[in-house]
Amino acid sequence: MTRMKGIEAFKPLIGAESVERIKSKAAMVDDMHVVHVNSTFYGGGVAELLSSLTILMNQLGVRTGWRVIQGSPDFFSITKKMHNALQGGGIRLTQLKKDIYERVVEKNAMRNHFQDHDLVMVHDPQPLPLIQHYRRRCPWVWRCHVDLSEPHEELWDYLKQFVSQYDATIVSTRGYTRDLDSPQLRFHPALDPFDSKNVEMGEKEITGRLEHYGIPTDRPLVVQISRFDKWKDPEGVVEAFKKAREEVDATLVLLGNIATDDPEGERVYQSLMDCREERIIILSKQDTSLVNALQRRAAVVVQKSIREGFGLTVTEAMWKGTAVVGGRAGGIPSQITDGENGFLVDSVDECAERIKQLIGDESLRQRLGEAAIETVRENFLLSRLAEQHLDLMGSFHSEFTLEGMSTCRVNGGD
Ligand code: UDP
Repeated sequence: MTRMKGIEAFKPLIGAESVERIKSKAAMVDDMHVVHVNSTFYGGGVAELLSSLTILMNQLGVRTGWRVIQGSPDFFSITKKMHNALQGGGIRLTQLKKDIYERVVEKNAMRNHFQDHDLVMVHDPQPLPLIQHYRRRCPWVWRCHVDLSEPHEELWDYLKQFVSQYDATIVSTRGYTRDLDSPQLRFHPALDPFDSKNVEMGEKEITGRLEHYGIPTDRPLVVQISRFDKWKDPEGVVEAFKKAREEVDATLVLLGNIATDDPEGERVYQSLMDCREERIIILSKQDTSLVNALQRRAAVVVQKSIREGFGLTVTEAMWKGTAVVGGRAGGIPSQITDGENGFLVDSVDECAERIKQLIGDESLRQRLGEAAIETVRENFLLSRLAEQHLDLMGSFHSEFTLEGMSTCRVNGGD
């Protein structure tokens, strides 16, 4: 099992010197105990990231735990509204909503004890107010994965009272830093190349997976893989595909899942059902090998998001050397340089044009795909993210300060 080799397995990808550097940084903080807190074990990029990162950190000898807060359906309905409003949507921020939010987090605080930890990392808005229920013995960092470029003002003012109690905030990309007195760092997310979602797959295996789900392989595949969420613009993808299909023949596959902390998913999924046709396939399956197979076999992977914290699905498709068309939103332009390793689009029409162009031009797909693999190898592998966490821990190791951070920039851009 390659996975169990931990950081050693990254040698062919990042070189022996980088692996040794990461190991020695880990050795300097292996007496520290870290805990991550978020709101779902499954569905979405954060769960994906924590699942791989916490294992790799433990393999590096750093005790790293992961806790998931619990909540009632009304709590998750409120936090999803907050998530939407942080990304620029509207919200009616009533006292009742605030009370439910804070009360559920308080109950979670009563159940969760952070006594012998040396660093607590709290992810996203759902568990954010946890901090106010503890006598702090170690640094607390808020890791925000959502697009914070234009948050709903009243909501941000409300949440800021919690955010400003943290020792630092980490955001996913340039443009998400806010008006805070505490330091703000930028950690791009990253993928685990040894996860079953990303490992090599043979052509036969890929075909087998697709056939298992009745996905036709006789025409080029256009694929979007995303939580069923309006910000991922699945309807825009269907529209763009229909326009492209006026000139090229292809099959569209929209594969999605519904995170346990996202009560809107089911509605978005159901609303897409009417779009289904022989060549428009909409699936909700929990199968990482199917994700892998689709991202590998696709002629074009689309991620036509309107808002996007980072977009790990973009990274995953790029790693497989597949041409990606991404919405010019949030973290996607941090990964795609238009025309070099993929395409960025601003509208349904542009998306349709790029789909057509790519389906008709295999050498273009190959050129973009090769550049995309290099982009991910250099920037978006889990080893880099682990090193940033080790640097963060190192900076907190002896005292409560962020001095000495090497790979993170404070209040920095890309
Ligand atoms: N994903 C999946 N199955 C699906 C849809 C999504 O496994 O049907 C995974 C996808 O491969 C990626 C993650 O969920 O690893 C989504 O992360 P991303 O950052 O793209 O979006 P988020 O859901 O966090 O907004």
